[in-house]
Parts: sequence; structure tokens; C-alpha cells
Amino acid sequence: MIITIDGPAGSGKSTIAKMLAKELGFTYIDTGAMYRAVALMVKREGIDPDNANAVVELMKKIQIDLKPAENGVQVFLNGEDVSREIRTEEIGKIASKIARHSEVRKILVQMQRELGLRAKNVVIEGRDTGTVIFPDADIKFFFTASPEVRAERRYKELKEKGLNISYEEILKEIKERDHLDETRKDSPLRPAEDAIIIDTTDKSLSDVFQNVLKIIKDRLKNSG
Ligand code: C5P
Repeated sequence: MIITIDGPAGSGKSTIAKMLAKELGFTYIDTGAMYRAVALMVKREGIDPDNANAVVELMKKIQIDLKPAENGVQVFLNGEDVSREIRTEEIGKIASKIARHSEVRKILVQMQRELGLRAKNVVIEGRDTGTVIFPDADIKFFFTASPEVRAERRYKELKEKGLNISYEEILKEIKERDHLDETRKDSPLRPAEDAIIIDTTDKSLSDVFQNVLKIIKDRLKNSG
């Protein structure tokens, strides 16, 4: 069974995807982590993220592995654990830039599809999991929330980690990343036609979780 969750940064999709995978005993696949791993390498090597050919060349030298961990996944780049290093705003921004290149997407989509098919029961989240990676998924969700609420969530998260960044700065970056993701030609961020839209703006995490879990359980019951 394949469950997809797409949506913009800060919509709550990662947290819910991890909770669902744990509850259902499914494999969790974080597709954004793979774009972030490539972005980190791009930064380290000093490559221009807008140069598609250079990024694709670099990808030939990259091995990305996702390993299940207590709080989601551990991400390995050529054997090195980069789970923490890829979670910065800067890497998120570079990830959105390299994610605009079709050639880059093709390579990652192929890897993501293989990971999903190998795992069988999967909760996979990102921007194109229900539209491109698994268009025939069993259940598709698309999470939304206002940019202000998403920025607020991200702000709290970073504050808790002790990082010094202003709310205004985060809001600006979230809007920039939305723009990059929504306007790219290949696989722009949008809900699949048959996706269930979940607006998380005014909802608590636990409300969203219960809501989504109920939808999945009803679906499982109806399909026997
Ligand atoms: O989800 P996360 O914020 O980690 O993703 C980082 C970036 O990677 C996104 O802003 C998006 O540009 C890109 N991405 C994508 N397709 C996916 C997952 C992530 O284009 N399936």
C-alpha cells in the first residue's frame, strides 16, 4: 500500500508522515531529504545550483542512502551521516534550485520509485509523490497552510534548536521557496487530481493526525 503526502514547507507533512509510518508500521520515505543531500554536495563543491549539467555530473559521484531511525530517517551522503547538516534554510533554498532541473528530478524520481516499490507498504512525502512518483498510489494527501502559520512553525522549531533567525526572514524564505516550487516547469508543486486536501492552518498536530488516520482506516475497511 502506498500513501503519498505532498505540500509546501511547513505544512506539517513530514511530521504527520513520520507519525503515520510509525502507527501503521510502514516505511517512511522523505524525498526532500534526497534533494537536500544533493544540495549539500553542491554547496560543498562550490557548484552553481543553476547549472544543470554541473549538478548532474556531480550526482554521478553521489550515493544517497536513507535509513529508518527513531525520529524518521537518517540520511547518508557517500556513507557520511548528514541528517542534521541538510536541515538548514540555506540547504533548503539550494535544494529548491536544483529541483528545478528535469535531469536532476529524473534521477531522484527513479531512485524514489525503487525505494517505494522495494518497501511495499510506504508513506512517502514531498512535492510530487502523488503526481509523478506514484500516480497510482492508494491514498494521496495534499497538505496546505497559510505562509504565516508555516513560517511561525518553522520559527518555533529553529528557536528551540537555539538558532538565531527572525520570523520575517523565515517568512520571506518560505515564500521564495513556494515560488520556486510552484513555478518550475517540471513537476510544479500542486495537488494530484485525486488528492485529499488537508488545510492544517488552524489545526493541532494531533487533530490532523486523527483526521488523516481515520481517512486511511476507512479506506482500508472499504477496500476489504
Ligand atoms: O521537503 P523539503 O523542504 O525537505 O524539500 C526541499 C526542497 O526539495 C523543496 O523545496 C523542493 O524544491 C524540493 N523537493 C522537490 N520534490 C520533492 C521533494 C522536495 O522538488 N519530492
